[in-house]
Amino acid sequence: MKKIIIAVDGPSSSGKSTIAKAIAKAVGYNYIDTGAMYRAVALYCLRNHLDCQSVISHLSDLSISFVRMEDGSQHTLLNGEDVEKEIRTLEAGDMASQVSQVKEVRAFLVAQQQRMGDEKGIVMDGRDIGTVVFPQAELKLFITASPDVRATRRYKELVGKGEQPVYEDVVKDINERDYRDTHRAESPLRQAEDAILYDNSDIPFEDQMKDYIRFFNDRIH
Ligand code: C5P
Repeated sequence: MKKIIIAVDGPSSSGKSTIAKAIAKAVGYNYIDTGAMYRAVALYCLRNHLDCQSVISHLSDLSISFVRMEDGSQHTLLNGEDVEKEIRTLEAGDMASQVSQVKEVRAFLVAQQQRMGDEKGIVMDGRDIGTVVFPQAELKLFITASPDVRATRRYKELVGKGEQPVYEDVVKDINERDYRDTHRAESPLRQAEDAILYDNSDIPFEDQMKDYIRFFNDRIH
């Protein structure tokens, strides 16, 4: 059967990672979380007290990869170390949004992401997948939800991870990241012209999945 590339873009906490993972599982494709790659670079900066510019000369020391765990989940490795938990904090997310504005960091990660798509059969989520990484992707989804719905999702996710976030801080963080992601000079978050815009604020997950799989089936036949 024909293999395709599925690009899933959208703002923070739109649910795109959960959706991309579920689509990958349903259709038997590999899932690649590009946000995790920016977060890994961010963690490297935080640990080594590097700012967004000084990390450029260290990029060749960085190796980012993914490993599948026994329970089927995917963990991010930074120079061979499992950093999955550490990259998911608000601090790492905030730093990721900053390092992702640096042209050299983007070029470094985009080149790796494009290699991962050489054989197709992947679902990749991020902010620039349908516009920059794979403008030729056969299926592009642009997932969004209202800011309130997204803030509530992020809040619950952080609580679920044992953090004690303040709801107002989460809202502020989402707004700041949205602003940075859509206004940056390098590959700002925007919907590709041929992407399907999908607002999932009020749609139960099972119903969303039916739609996504229908879009997929339309593309592979
Ligand atoms: O999706 P996630 O919240 O894990 O991404 C962390 C940050 O990495 C985002 O706020 C965004 O600034 C950046 N990012 C990006 N391009 C991507 C994926 C993530 O700029 N393809």
